[in-house]
Amino acid sequence: MFIYIKDKMKTSLEQFSKEDHGIYKKDIDPDVITVSDILINNGFQAFLVGGCIRDILLNKKPKDFDIATDASPSVICKLFNNARIIGRRFKIVHVYVSDKKYFEVTTFRSDARKKNNEKKFKKTHGMIKRDNVFGTISQDAQRRDFTINSLYLDLDSENLHDYVGGINDIKNKKLKLIKKPSISYQEDPVRMLRAIRFESKLNIRLTEECSSSIKKMSHLINNVSPFRLFDEILKIMHSGKGVEGYLKLREHDLFKYLFPYTNNILIIDEKYNDFFMAALKNTDIRINDGLHVNPSFIYAVFLWPYFKEMEETSPDVKDFDSIFRRVIESQAKYISIPDFFKSTIFTIWSLQSSFLNLSSRNIQYVKELSKFRAAYDFFHIRSLIEPDLKEYAHKWYEIQKSVKSKKINRKHNRNGKRKSK
Ligand code: ATP
Ligand code: MG
Repeated sequence: MFIYIKDKMKTSLEQFSKEDHGIYKKDIDPDVITVSDILINNGFQAFLVGGCIRDILLNKKPKDFDIATDASPSVICKLFNNARIIGRRFKIVHVYVSDKKYFEVTTFRSDARKKNNEKKFKKTHGMIKRDNVFGTISQDAQRRDFTINSLYLDLDSENLHDYVGGINDIKNKKLKLIKKPSISYQEDPVRMLRAIRFESKLNIRLTEECSSSIKKMSHLINNVSPFRLFDEILKIMHSGKGVEGYLKLREHDLFKYLFPYTNNILIIDEKYNDFFMAALKNTDIRINDGLHVNPSFIYAVFLWPYFKEMEETSPDVKDFDSIFRRVIESQAKYISIPDFFKSTIFTIWSLQSSFLNLSSRNIQYVKELSKFRAAYDFFHIRSLIEPDLKEYAHKWYEIQKSVKSKKINRKHNRNGKRKSK
């Protein structure tokens, strides 16, 4: 069933009935239905939008469910006892359904660029810094990034609303920006990183124009706040498709703006590329097996060549601490690194020399350290590209196996005791 409605913005709406789009309530978290029912019963609209609809249509399990509504943030807060407005850039409401579980509810917004004067945009490199101008659903559809992220499931009628041709792109496995790439990446350069993440994670193709524009505009990524970049890079590296993500960041010239110091070393010595690939493969396997990954690890990996180079070539900085500080401080101008991450990176790197000491006293000490596992994994990956480390890595492989089996035994004993109570 198709209904075409022309609105003021000259966008056409295609509506798909339940039988056509094939999304049923069983695919949807019942708690999100409860939240949307409250909005609907109070006379407001409630749509599921974004990643959840895209993922269900691509036969993937959605990570979370986001609601879009015509109720304003303050009204949403009045309707729910446990709701909190968050965000500076965008005002979003978190509606809590239990202590830890919440849904993001956003009010329809219009394109902030149209409402603001052009001078203001020039000052901010054409980027949209704030975007809290409320609008209609069709305006909301236009301000999103990709067509496949702009599909709205009406939780009242159960029809799916498509203002931007997203359904067609889902069918053709096409990742396409809603606006012209030159405008869209300028407005928000993070969309270049999102493009790379979705392309790898969802196994779909970025259109030629959206892809080739990234290289032309990659330098704009340095206009983005280092805090936002930290989140986005981690999302790419922890998507389970980190290898692909990393290769695409390099291919599209984004890596050189994100990790400029590391990139300068890679240009001269590609051996570190093998190190990155091995580390990312390891992370992908762990993530796809549902195992824990230490988020600091990947930063320890990407900054290692720079650290080594500083160690070898800076006669003025001698001690480990000051080299470490210099490396982190220079990189943090591009991508922020939270303190908690810094301390783990520090431990991973500082333990590397300990793996060269095979005295029983040192082994006993190192294997009991809390970050032993991460530091050992790091050393093991280094040994894949540094032949001198192979022998040591082999010995530590045996040592860590015994640590692992002891831990498993301890866990079994604890569980056994609990059961027998
Ligand atoms: P996932 O949650 O799987 O990472 P997602 O598409 O849901 O993917 P979110 O960051 O949760 O990503 O954003 C929710 C929705 O908000 C997106 O689907 C998109 O419609 C919109 N959105 C997010 N980031 C941007 C952006 N930078 N520019 C425009 N729209 C965006
Ligand atoms: Mg999401």
